[in-house]
Amino acid sequence: MNLILLGAPGAGKGTQAEKICEKLGIPAISTGNMLREAMANGTEMGLKAKSFIDAGKLVPDEVVIGIIRERLQADDCKNGFILDGFPRTIPQAEALDQMGVRIDRVIDIEVPDEKIAARLSGRRVCLKCGATYHTEYKQPKTEGVCDVCGDKLVQRKDDMPETVLDRLKTYHEQTEPLKDYYAKKGNLRVVEGQEAVADTTALTMKALED
Ligand code: AMP
Repeated sequence: MNLILLGAPGAGKGTQAEKICEKLGIPAISTGNMLREAMANGTEMGLKAKSFIDAGKLVPDEVVIGIIRERLQADDCKNGFILDGFPRTIPQAEALDQMGVRIDRVIDIEVPDEKIAARLSGRRVCLKCGATYHTEYKQPKTEGVCDVCGDKLVQRKDDMPETVLDRLKTYHEQTEPLKDYYAKKGNLRVVEGQEAVADTTALTMKALED
């Protein structure tokens, strides 16, 4: 199954991508994680992306389209994949179509803006493996340490309150039109994302079945 997860920053796309990955055994592909990894490794692409990410802006389409084009050719995508955070603009969605990539379902996780800021301020991430945690809702077994790989957890610079508002603005202007784009194709399903993670997962799995 080829899936796209849509939703505002902090809507829980990454967490749901991990759950679906566990249940269906298909890889979760996060352009945000790939860009952060490139930044951590100091690659040319990482350096180029950094100023956009730190300012809460989108990285240019051609950069992320290139990343996804290459990633989807990997062997582990043969039986399906979960795209988390891509596409984020209409040109990115059109690029997927032009690559001939079939999309079976687009799940839009809806969380009101006022809930987003609180969620993002408590978010902690592992820059090594991409796992995400929350100081209140999803604590690691040992404070400040990733359960998956043992690396240290950090707060993303773009999760600071002043940048969150810019990211939400960018989301409404550039990413939200994708709901209409996929609704017209008939494969959009909207899931309520403001309750507990397990509730959202149940709704998401149901949306994959119908
Ligand atoms: P995320 O971890 O998905 O919230 O992504 C973090 C940041 O990476 C975003 O705020 C953007 O600056 C950048 N980014 C991730 N995915 C994309 C994308 N598909 N298009 C443009 N920029 C992206």
